[in-house]
Amino acid sequence: MSLSKDTEVIFDSHRGHDYRSANPPLYDSSTFHQKVLGGNPEYDYARSGNPNRQLLEEKLAKLEGGDYAFAYASGIAAISAVLLSLNSGDHVILPDDVYGGTFRLTEQILTRFNIQFSTVDTTHTDEIRNAIQSNTKLVYLETPSNPKFKVTDIREASKIAHDHNLIVAVDNTFMTPLGQSPLELGADIVVHSATKFLGGHSDIIAGAAITNNKEIADSLYLLQNGTGTALSAQDSWTLVKHLKTLPVRFNQSVRNAEKLVDFFQSRDEIAEVYYPGLNDKHLAQAKHGGAVLGFRLKDETKAQALVDALTLPLVSVSLGGVETILSHPATMSHAAVPKEVREARQITFGLFRLSVGLEDPNELIADFNYAFKEAFHESNSRQAPEQHSSW
Ligand SMILES: *Cc1c(COP(=O)(O)O)cnc(C)c1O
Repeated sequence: MSLSKDTEVIFDSHRGHDYRSANPPLYDSSTFHQKVLGGNPEYDYARSGNPNRQLLEEKLAKLEGGDYAFAYASGIAAISAVLLSLNSGDHVILPDDVYGGTFRLTEQILTRFNIQFSTVDTTHTDEIRNAIQSNTKLVYLETPSNPKFKVTDIREASKIAHDHNLIVAVDNTFMTPLGQSPLELGADIVVHSATKFLGGHSDIIAGAAITNNKEIADSLYLLQNGTGTALSAQDSWTLVKHLKTLPVRFNQSVRNAEKLVDFFQSRDEIAEVYYPGLNDKHLAQAKHGGAVLGFRLKDETKAQALVDALTLPLVSVSLGGVETILSHPATMSHAAVPKEVREARQITFGLFRLSVGLEDPNELIADFNYAFKEAFHESNSRQAPEQHSSW
């Protein structure tokens, strides 16, 4: 019988465990006994491979519809493995609003090894075509991007890239394998920050890269083992357990987010709501709009007062947790982006990103309702302070 993706993550793990336990044991070992010298054992040293990571990788590959998956110590480690597959002198096309950590990796680290980058607005696929050079090797995409949820057509971008023999990698963190399948749409590599929805409990930092291409897979493994960025056995074991609830967590979060989008759209205090579910180009390649949205306050000076009046959301960096997380891009994820660039991209003090969790959506709405009333209709505006934080 063939299993759906949802069922696959829940039910296939108990077969073959010792004592048929519901959850796999944690093989908390850095090394494995070798009976036969030169006998090529299944596992020898845990950096190179261990049963917990392998089980996780098999699940991640199935979820993304790929043949090979590799789990890394963070999303950025997975992205590093993709980019370090390149050679000195190679050129990469990146979205102009790529995740800040990816931008830092390229700008501050990889350029030192003469890997070259062009940032373009990938939502206009012509800009991808125009940026291709004789040394271009990779088109790297992130869709929907954040905090403004710009959408790149993965099929179209992959077609342009493949016409020029380029590899396409897609950061699928926001949609998860349940909401969008980049490999089916033509991409060669999918990367995830598993810290977000895949883990879902705001308790581990993890990442993954998935592909159908054997040559790319060999390179991803070489980098996982050779740079020592593999996910630990313990975190792999935790992630396998968290994946079992991914379908219910993610689907419920999406339903809640849709209600919150309607609510924000109905409010006078909000200048603009950003949500991939409002974009036809996104809906043509994904199942729904996901569980993260953005909104901009008409009066930016009320941002702190809004935060002060809210009870439910965790106000923090990150997304994809069971708890609703309210982020403030200007002082958090995009704090290191120069102010002029931030403002040109409308990442201003009044812009918030909301990752909707599993609380009762009516309670979340009631919480925002109260907070808008407090912040906007009482006389408590505060000036926006200049802040800087790490990301
Ligand atoms: C968080 C995030 C990353 C980085 O992942 P880490 O697990 O924090 O290293 C990469 N891409 C996107 C879209 C993210 O949200």
